[in-house]
Amino acid sequence: MRSTWSLIALLGMPSLMMAQSYFIKGPEAPKPQEKTAIQEMTDYLARRIGDKTLSIGGKTPVTFQIGDTELAREQKCLSSELEDERWVIRSIGDQILINGGGTRGVLYAAYHFLEDFCDIHWWSDYEEYVPETSSLTLDTLNVTGKPAFLYRDIYRTHRGPDSVRTAVRNRLNRDGGEGLALISTELGGSFTYGSPSHAHTFDRYIPFEKFGKDHPEFFSLVKGKRIGGQTQGQLCLTNPELKQLFLSQILKNIKQDKEIAEKKGCLPPRIYEVSMNDNRNICTCEQCNAEVEKYNPSGHYLNFVNWIAGEVSKTYPDIYISMLAYFYNEPPPKGGARAADNVIVKLCDTRTNQAASILEKDNKVFLDFLTSWKNYAKNLFIWDYAIIYTNVTGYPFASEFHYGDLYRTYYENNVMGIFWEHERPHLADFYELKFFLETKLFEDPYQDVNKLINLFMDRYYGAAAEYILAYRHAIDDARKKNDGFISWFPPAAAFHYLTKNDIAKCQLLFDKAEAAVADDKVRFARVRHGRVGLDRLTCYIANPLIHQGITQNEDQPFKKLASSAFKRLAETRASWVENWINNKGILQQFANELAMLSSEIDVIPAPPELKDRQFYDFYPTHFQNHDTNALKLVDDAESPVGKAMRTEVDQSIMKYYDLPFAIGVYDQRNTKTLISTTFEKPAAKGYNWYKLPRIIHLPKDGYVYLTRAWTTKLDVSNPEIAEKDFEIWASVKFTGPKFFADSTDKNYIYIDRIVLVEPQK
Ligand SMILES: [Zn+2]
Repeated sequence: MRSTWSLIALLGMPSLMMAQSYFIKGPEAPKPQEKTAIQEMTDYLARRIGDKTLSIGGKTPVTFQIGDTELAREQKCLSSELEDERWVIRSIGDQILINGGGTRGVLYAAYHFLEDFCDIHWWSDYEEYVPETSSLTLDTLNVTGKPAFLYRDIYRTHRGPDSVRTAVRNRLNRDGGEGLALISTELGGSFTYGSPSHAHTFDRYIPFEKFGKDHPEFFSLVKGKRIGGQTQGQLCLTNPELKQLFLSQILKNIKQDKEIAEKKGCLPPRIYEVSMNDNRNICTCEQCNAEVEKYNPSGHYLNFVNWIAGEVSKTYPDIYISMLAYFYNEPPPKGGARAADNVIVKLCDTRTNQAASILEKDNKVFLDFLTSWKNYAKNLFIWDYAIIYTNVTGYPFASEFHYGDLYRTYYENNVMGIFWEHERPHLADFYELKFFLETKLFEDPYQDVNKLINLFMDRYYGAAAEYILAYRHAIDDARKKNDGFISWFPPAAAFHYLTKNDIAKCQLLFDKAEAAVADDKVRFARVRHGRVGLDRLTCYIANPLIHQGITQNEDQPFKKLASSAFKRLAETRASWVENWINNKGILQQFANELAMLSSEIDVIPAPPELKDRQFYDFYPTHFQNHDTNALKLVDDAESPVGKAMRTEVDQSIMKYYDLPFAIGVYDQRNTKTLISTTFEKPAAKGYNWYKLPRIIHLPKDGYVYLTRAWTTKLDVSNPEIAEKDFEIWASVKFTGPKFFADSTDKNYIYIDRIVLVEPQK
């Protein structure tokens, strides 16, 4: 009946044709963030409701009162009266109050209204979900909330044109990266760090380049030498002169930042980072050693940070000093050391199995760090990794099902903030889903994760949702069944937790998913993109190891799966980033990987020394390059393989490429070096074999490394060879005067072959 009435009314009074069922009002002189909230509500409601009907508690038209309006004053909901970041959505008759505390609350109220009541979602910088225009009938509203975590930050790369807005729409209050006002005042401003940075600041405060020559004593004493710099050394934290210098720098920065913030009209930073450089070379001078002995490395570091924090608080009592519990500082202190009340300890999660829950046995080490650190620090932040850093970023692992455990455990152990590293959206596995959960759980870690996942699946994949969800469960089940371990630097072989059988099943699910959305261009593209990780893995696994001495049977059905996977990658992978800004590098990266996945490798004949032996043969295309500045894959006519990984020795400041040359084996899962052998000089000119002196039982998850810099690596985690015994040989050529006094060549190390030789019976 109602629609009949409307129709008659409209026919009778054409001027009402344009009548809206809602109005949006703000204060007379809106603040920048209020203007944004009004604009966002205006734009999205036009798309969501348009000329259809919005009603609240049976009343229409509805008037939104956004920001510090008269209604907010009457309701005692002015931004100055509410806690920072608290948001309020309340209906009073035919009016809806939208406001919040501090500078961000009003935006959070607007975005919550759009998300929770209008079903609008922001998946990424390039994708959102707005339901088709339709009427919306709401019951009376009185809801409020405040994010559970004080500090919510996700570091992202390859960002879109209006990337900061994606962060704010999802209620992040810092947006990765550096700088004073990453989030502008129009978007509510940041809860952020002061200059020079949010991490690894030792060398930024006291650069080795500047002070190393005149004050070597400021820097860490390692093996009898004072070393410094971001990747090389640390500071000598017990040097009194250094402490004073550090303090004066930090006080200067705080003062400057406050002045800049005032000029910009934004909030000044609240946190200053006093954190170790990105390496493990702690000072071993007598005083530092004595402190480490008594308090642990972290306690020794805390003594320094606490002193700075104490001095800073005399002038700036509202400033926090933060530090990194990273590498040797991850274990908590002993001997009575603890963080001062204005110190934030940022515990880094470098040890977990990302594919497992924090409550599973694999993650006990990190869980123990977390639960014990809370006894030594009132303020705890976490630096966590959703990304994996090897060249297999994007291979599948279903961490999403375990985010609930993670966030609840953090929350219950005094964690106030989390910094996620979640880079490479074009590569990463199910990036949009994980980003969605990361942001939602920041606000309330007790939400039902499966419900959130279902919501995402439904809106994002539509008719394909059930198959995609089944795929995610299938890989999580396989991980549990096959003891999969995905560290932050996982080797490709770690993904053998998915057996060929599992992969075949998953590929079938994707066939169904694609069929379900065949007529929906947008969702079909999403399914294809979601499939990329599995397709890359399928191709990788289809390329068998070269085992000399035995003829191999090819697995024909799996080869067929791989050739379909390769075809999909070649044909559609690039289209995902077609509209991205600065996508040139990405497209090149895709092309490079495709070439590698397709490489039909010619097997090189066995060398004479190995004529009657059985061995696994690895060529330079199999090696990992961990120093792209110094290492290059080059053609070399002198090598029987025709190619070599060449190291430019003079590139290295630390002389790790000088003699002696090293070969070793590292057990990644147990963080243990199994063997390390050095060679004082080359055997002779040209390629020669260098062998480890005994048979090695390869770890389940590990690699062979070459050079003292460990920058050429061979992943040996493939289940075909892991946990078996081998002799390890490497074919290496040295050139240049560093190695042969009479040589006029450049100083190079060439590695053209690594072989794992089965022991003689
Ligand atoms: Zn020292």
